[in-house]
Amino acid sequence: MLGLMQEVPLSIPMLVRRARDLFPDKHVVSRRPDRSIGRAPYGDVIARSGRLALALRALGVAEGDRVATLAWNHQRHLEAYFAVPSMGAVLHTLNLRLHPTDLAYIIGHAEDQVILVDQVLWPLWEKVAPLVRVKHVIIMSDGGETPPGAIDYEALLSGSADDTFQFDDRDERTAAAMCYTSGTTGRPKGVLYSHRAIVLHTFMSLASDSAAIVERDVMLPVVPMFHVNAWGFPYTTAFVGATQVHPGPHLDPASLLELMSTERVTMAAGVPTIWLGILQALDAAPGHWDLSAMRMTLVGGAAPPESMIRGFKQRHGVVVQQGWGMTEMSPIGSVSRLQRKHDDIPEHEQYHQLAKAGYPVPGVEIRARSESGLLPWDGTSMGELEVRGPWVVREYYRPEDPITQFTDDGWFRTGDIVTIAPDGCITITDRSKDVIKSGGEWVSSVALEGALMGHAEVFEAAVVGLPHPRWSERPFAVVVRKPGALVEAPALKAWLAERFASWWVPDDFAFVDALPKTGTGKVQKSQLRDTYRDRFAGADEAGAAHPPAEAGA
Ligand code: ADP
Repeated sequence: MLGLMQEVPLSIPMLVRRARDLFPDKHVVSRRPDRSIGRAPYGDVIARSGRLALALRALGVAEGDRVATLAWNHQRHLEAYFAVPSMGAVLHTLNLRLHPTDLAYIIGHAEDQVILVDQVLWPLWEKVAPLVRVKHVIIMSDGGETPPGAIDYEALLSGSADDTFQFDDRDERTAAAMCYTSGTTGRPKGVLYSHRAIVLHTFMSLASDSAAIVERDVMLPVVPMFHVNAWGFPYTTAFVGATQVHPGPHLDPASLLELMSTERVTMAAGVPTIWLGILQALDAAPGHWDLSAMRMTLVGGAAPPESMIRGFKQRHGVVVQQGWGMTEMSPIGSVSRLQRKHDDIPEHEQYHQLAKAGYPVPGVEIRARSESGLLPWDGTSMGELEVRGPWVVREYYRPEDPITQFTDDGWFRTGDIVTIAPDGCITITDRSKDVIKSGGEWVSSVALEGALMGHAEVFEAAVVGLPHPRWSERPFAVVVRKPGALVEAPALKAWLAERFASWWVPDDFAFVDALPKTGTGKVQKSQLRDTYRDRFAGADEAGAAHPPAEAGA
């Protein structure tokens, strides 16, 4: 027997209509490339989105066509977020930090028909353009001449100055947006988000035990709109009528702090690298910026060190909420929150708890598997995390490489190595490609990095496994010191030896000015492994290595 409730499609127009009808006077704030601030009410933003949708249709964009963006976070990008899926096309956000040849590959693979490009990114586009074929290029300009062959965004909108676009429901199973994974292993892979997945992810993000966004929030997504739909925040924020604040290209700590302070931002989101920089700036100038409105920042994409979570709270009163997720999961999979039972544990243990990836959000199911099968939730058995849920990828878009990331019963293999506690709390120990196996035993780079970053003289650290003649691999740490710090390897070894088994302690250290980062702001460990590849080549003979004495040797 079927239920007898209305089958209202879960599609993006539903989110847009609510912002239009209930919150027309709430604002979208954008910092422009010249640092000036633009403000527009949702009513205007959505009217402009309607005009964009009609204009794209007039250009020949048909249902299912891919419309790409090469843009920072700002109002016009948001207009594309509303317009493109609402007219039945697919919004394909391009990562502006990728190499032109990678961008060309992705644009070609997705068969993008139209591209919207920021004027400040035009030099990048000029490198990509000769390598691809798109029908129309629209430039989002802040003045100056329109390059030959391009269409000016504002001219396009004023050319369709009618407000008849209705934001009608779409089939919820159709594609609304797409984003390619960074391709650190193999070719970039396309993830094609359905309307339904985005809307359900939006509802989940509103839950009090996840991101808990409310109307009175002023939300600053530092996470780029080109990366997994800025973790869904443009949609989530619009749906509840919260104010959106977009930083444009200005992502340095001082610019972000100024924006948070002057716009009275209540909630922000971004990767740990950004927040490490912000914490350092705050520590250097306590009281300079007013963060009294901030209720929390969601940090994810890589593990935020415990010391950072503690530092923000204790020294600046800002709550850091950790989220774990993936491009393939729209992206939120788990959020770290204290539960009622944690009220009674000492404060330092609470921070320890918060530094874990946390509990799966409502709607996501988890399990972990090793070579011998599914693992118990005992907090110690380590294996690959598998997930299932309505906003988790079912298949990649036209994959070129053989795909082994789906189980026979339809779960997605995340490639993350985890333990799951009896209460379902996830601890990420590594990505499978970054795992360090020393003397047959796993060493967690995430745990070592967290501890190193807890040292008073360390700004950032990465730990990788390097080939070793005796132990197959040994951990090696690459450290960025805080300004003026002089700490050396022996002190850091001693610091780690107090916290971990002796064979976990890296055999050697390198000190650098900065760590190499991927296009999404994560440490590029493959590059570190290449750079230091031969570091332990003669270790056995020299007897200089620290053998993993307690390992299964
Ligand atoms: P990529 O890093 O390849 O650009 P994603 O942004 O989708 O692509 O990265 C997802 C991966 O980032 C996860 O599989 C996990 O390894 C890592 N990650 C995300 N959030 C966290 C977190 N809170 N703690 C540890 N690792 C995380």
